[in-house]
Parts: sequence; structure tokens; C-alpha cells
Amino acid sequence: MQKLEQVYEGKAKKVFKTDDPELFIVDYKDDATAFNGLKKGTIKGKGVINNQMSNRLMEMLAKKGIPTHFVEELSERETLVKKVSIVPLEVIVRNIAAGSFSKHYGVEEGIKFDEPVLEFSYKNDDLGDPLLNTSHALALKVATKEEIDTIKKYALAVNEALKEFWAKCGVTLVDFKIEFGRTSDGTIILADEISPDTCRLWDSETGEKLDKDRFRRDLGGVEEAYEEVMKRLLNNN
Ligand code: ADP
Ligand code: UDP
Repeated sequence: MQKLEQVYEGKAKKVFKTDDPELFIVDYKDDATAFNGLKKGTIKGKGVINNQMSNRLMEMLAKKGIPTHFVEELSERETLVKKVSIVPLEVIVRNIAAGSFSKHYGVEEGIKFDEPVLEFSYKNDDLGDPLLNTSHALALKVATKEEIDTIKKYALAVNEALKEFWAKCGVTLVDFKIEFGRTSDGTIILADEISPDTCRLWDSETGEKLDKDRFRRDLGGVEEAYEEVMKRLLNNN
């Protein structure tokens, strides 16, 4: 597979065309940003971990019937994926209160929900990714009713599968963000990445944070946390 011109450089990944019009190559960087790009830094080795972790998790999800963009890992940092047109929604699922949920609604971090909370943000950096509901998404025509129903169904199924997977690694899945896209024939599939950049992962015993919050909140031990979750994923599966 030939890597052709770059189509996009984001905050964490670069995306390249290939000689197959249906496939892209994503290249994971060590760059880290938070607070809509206001905080910038580097997490050494993050690109390698996020690439490999996302691929292993997507393979696991595919086995559970969730269609994903993953095609083939090409190198430590590069993966061949199905090209999609991204639905501009950040789909967030929460099992435990943390981050912006705690801030918006004035609840302590760590409160467990009886049912998962599913929320959408409008994927638009200029607007600061505002929270939006299904009616807003339909009004903005970001997706059809059927597509939103599919996305919600897949997001909850991803949550169940990831929760169970991480529990086996001694890790509690607090919340995460995923993105979906449409392939050329209009099929909705899971795209982007699933990694400590996009999930909150807490040690099940100690509650220690093993994710990007260590970077966001200047907690130190950022690289070590990413290495630790990757090690647990490899040791338990
Ligand atoms: P951001 O755009 O937020 O800075 P990244 O640095 O992760 O994020 O950039 C990767 C970009 O590629 C994101 O905008 C994401 O929506 C997009 N993307 C992820 N998977 C695919 C795919 N399979 N096809 C097309 N675009 C994708
Ligand atoms: N998240 C993400 N990208 C974003 C916003 C959130 O990957 O642009 C993830 C974040 O890592 C967390 C979950 O989505 O696992 C919920 O994030 P929250 O809304 O609490 O936002 P934050 O605290 O990052 O502002």
C-alpha cells in the first residue's frame, strides 16, 4: 500500500491518502493538547501506544459485531483504515462522573451512574465543541435520525465491551469519546481512535488515573501511565 499525500494534520494524528481511494493511512504523533488546544505538550511514546491500543480494541469490538475503520497495522505508528466522512459528533459515554460532567452539573468526580450517560458534542473546534442533543443534531443536519439511532446503539455496545475488557485488566472505564463516519456506501462505522487520550481509565484498586488527565492536570507520570495501561492490555488479553 502506497502512502500518498497528506490530507489532514490534526492535534494527535496525520491522515494520508493511499493508492486505494477507499483507504487512508493514519500516523499517530506524540503531540498532546488539552483545553481545545490551549495546553500543548509531548508525551513520549504516546503515538506508538495509542496506535497499537486503538487497533487491539477495535479488533476486539469488531469481533463483537461493531463495524470499525481498522484494516491493518502497518508500523508502530501507522495504520491502514477505511476512509470515512466523519459525522461531526463527539460521542461521549460516561459510567462515572468526571471532567466536564462534574463541572457542569456540580457533582463530585467518582460518583457511579446507575445507567451509562450518553452525550454528544458538536465536533467544531471554532465553537469549542459545544454539547448538543439529538434535536440539535437533526436541526443542524449532521446526521439522519436513523444514523443517530445507529450511533447511539453502537456507542452503548462499545461501552459494554470496553467496560468488560478493561475490568479484566484491573482498570475501570470512567468515560470515553468516540467518533463515527460514513463509508462511501453510507454505512456507519466506528472511526478515529480509542486510547488513553480519549478515555478516562482508573486503576480499579487504587483509583489512580491512567490516562490523559495526568497531562491535563499536571499530575506527572504521564508516559508511565500510558505504558502501564498498554502493559495491562497486553498481559491480560
Ligand atoms: P483532531 O482533528 O481533533 O485534531 P486528530 O489529530 O486525531 O484529531 O486527527 C485525526 C482526524 O482524522 C480527526 O479529525 C478524525 O475525525 C479523522 N479521522 C479519523 N478516522 C478517520 C477515517 N477512518 N477516515 C477519515 N477521517 C478520519
Ligand atoms: N474527550 C476527548 N476529546 C475531546 C473531549 C473529550 O477524547 O475533545 C474524552 C475525554 O478524554 C474523556 C471523555 O471524552 O474521556 C469525556 O470528556 P469530558 O467531557 O469530561 O471533557 P474534559 O474533561 O476533557 O473537558
